[in-house]
Amino acid sequence: MSEGPSAFRTLAGRLFLGLRGDRLLHRAMGAAGVVLMFHRVRAAAPGWTGTGGLSVAPDRFRALLASLARDGWRFADLDAAVRDPAPGDRRPFVCLTFDDGYADNFEAALPIAREFEAPITVFVTTGFTDGTAAAWWLVLDRAVADRDRVALDLPGRSPIVLDCRTPETKRRAYDTLAPMLRDAGPEQRQTLIAAIARSARLDPAALTRDAFAGWPLLRTAARDPLVRIGAHTVTHPRLAALPHSRLVWEVATCRQRLRDELGVPVLDFAYPYGTPDSFGPREAQAVARAGFRLALATTPGLIAAGPRDPFALPRLGVGPADDAISARVRMGGAGLALEAVRSVRAIRRPPPRVSHA
Ligand SMILES: [Zn+2]
Repeated sequence: MSEGPSAFRTLAGRLFLGLRGDRLLHRAMGAAGVVLMFHRVRAAAPGWTGTGGLSVAPDRFRALLASLARDGWRFADLDAAVRDPAPGDRRPFVCLTFDDGYADNFEAALPIAREFEAPITVFVTTGFTDGTAAAWWLVLDRAVADRDRVALDLPGRSPIVLDCRTPETKRRAYDTLAPMLRDAGPEQRQTLIAAIARSARLDPAALTRDAFAGWPLLRTAARDPLVRIGAHTVTHPRLAALPHSRLVWEVATCRQRLRDELGVPVLDFAYPYGTPDSFGPREAQAVARAGFRLALATTPGLIAAGPRDPFALPRLGVGPADDAISARVRMGGAGLALEAVRSVRAIRRPPPRVSHA
């Protein structure tokens, strides 16, 4: 691949930031700040992985925070997302949030955040901490990465066998099975995870235990003034697919479990998956009734300066491909603005001719 366009983008990004373009555009779009979403902060694992998009390398995480601090962004906790700024403080805020409850959030990200006195909020899936639920994406990732084929043999259904010999077939296998696991109900998902683990000779409980923070680590972290613990359900389901009673149980039990174990207030919630097909008004109402003051989605956007819905706050996800420049350009709203321009152009363009060949 030619380096030209990417070098140009980097140069354009540098010019944009040099002119404080992100902060100006941010203000022009009527935004008060931004909530960034991370999952894991750790060096990229060697070999094939289907979940590489969840990890940001520690040096990139530090570079992004350094770049923000240098240019006067204000690191804030999630209070900033629901309260009006203090009079006279015109600096845009940035909140750092981490989904699922990975141990590396405290072991790798927190020490870096502390260098910048940046608060972090970690959304914990209590079933992962308790060892009563397994993170399906970790099981699927290992199964596809380690094996030449993954078989799914379920009672009453014809077996599915997926080839995993090349990076391409691994990707295809992961992308075929991931939606099944994501959309399955709680019991059906357990069955699917067990079947994949059996086929690949994996221990889902061990994989989950190794990746996520246990209660001792969470207890220590919860006492840190820079750390807030938020709720992310018990089993990480797609809430919109659940019956109402199970939805209420997932939201309320998670909050109660965190309060009992950690002895701290738990005020903030993040919807698992966070996409428009994973929550709506019914889920927002359940979260509000459980006593939370705000809920975060994963729909991309900035936090408006004016009135906003505290139970559907947008975020910008930061992934491994984001360096300080690309993340900052998107934070300024440039990415969103470009997408808006692109979609307007797409509407203006004449519809494509349908080929019947
Ligand atoms: Zn999650």
